[in-house]
Amino acid sequence: MDLPICGFCAKNASLCPMCEKKVEEGILTQADVDASITLANIAKTTNEIKDFTLYSCKEFDGNYVLSLAKNDILTIRQSRTLYRLLQEQFKGKIWLVEADETDKRFIEDLFFPTKILSINSVWAPGGVQKTKAVVSGKWTPRFPIDTEKVVAIVKNARNLDIEIEFEDKK
Ligand SMILES: [Zn+2]
Repeated sequence: MDLPICGFCAKNASLCPMCEKKVEEGILTQADVDASITLANIAKTTNEIKDFTLYSCKEFDGNYVLSLAKNDILTIRQSRTLYRLLQEQFKGKIWLVEADETDKRFIEDLFFPTKILSINSVWAPGGVQKTKAVVSGKWTPRFPIDTEKVVAIVKNARNLDIEIEFEDKK
């Protein structure tokens, strides 16, 4: 497993001087540390995630945005059991995104499995640039993704102001 903290720390759930220094210098956050330890712990009993690469974990308002390798995300999406197992180990909702992806892919990942029809830059009144994402279908109370959380995550992680619109507005 490739984690933001070293293998020793992940295994022992405590920080060595080198990893500790990274936290103090702000290179790593507490969320990176916690997520690394959590994943390493799950890997002890779950072979599927043994080769995972976690790049970072951003936490805010009880949301955990995990940046993983593309293949790792595919593995999780193919197994509902694995997804649940991961979700259960975090105190809030987990969001899976690919490391170093474009803003467009980032937004698409947050909405997975719902399809995004388009993502465009629009000018809002007052000359502010916004990003508008059009989601396929229409919103119902059973829509599984909290769009307000998506807006907050995109703002927090990418510093982008997005506006979410559904294809069918009725
Ligand atoms: Zn360490």
